[in-house]
Amino acid sequence: MDTKTYPVTRTDEEWRRLLTPEQYGVMRRHGTEAPGSCSLLHEKRAGAFVCAGCGQKLFVGKTKFESGTGWPSFNDPVDGSVETTTDRSYGMVRTEVHCSRCGSHLGHVFPDGPPPTGLRYCINGVALTFEPE
Ligand SMILES: [Zn+2]
Repeated sequence: MDTKTYPVTRTDEEWRRLLTPEQYGVMRRHGTEAPGSCSLLHEKRAGAFVCAGCGQKLFVGKTKFESGTGWPSFNDPVDGSVETTTDRSYGMVRTEVHCSRCGSHLGHVFPDGPPPTGLRYCINGVALTFEPE
């Protein structure tokens, strides 16, 4: 599945040990959590959202907004922290977002977000760990 080598590389066995079954399904098998299922949806404190797979800082609290979709949504990632691919699954063309350090799937980005970026990073909360300031 992954053709590129990431700075953080783990075997499938290691990922299964490190992550909960739900995290594994989302992050390593491109799953999607049920909307509204993650407590991070309502996290409004200042702080950082880091990758649950490798600890890389992905988003900061001030770029988070309420999109009404049921998934944590952000305007803008930390520079260089995420990469994208074209996802043609389910008969749709979407832009998939993953961590640049460990390759774990995070969610998708859509061009209908608020200013200043106009982007909506729609992220699975289980793929994130919140670190309050
Ligand atoms: Zn990562």
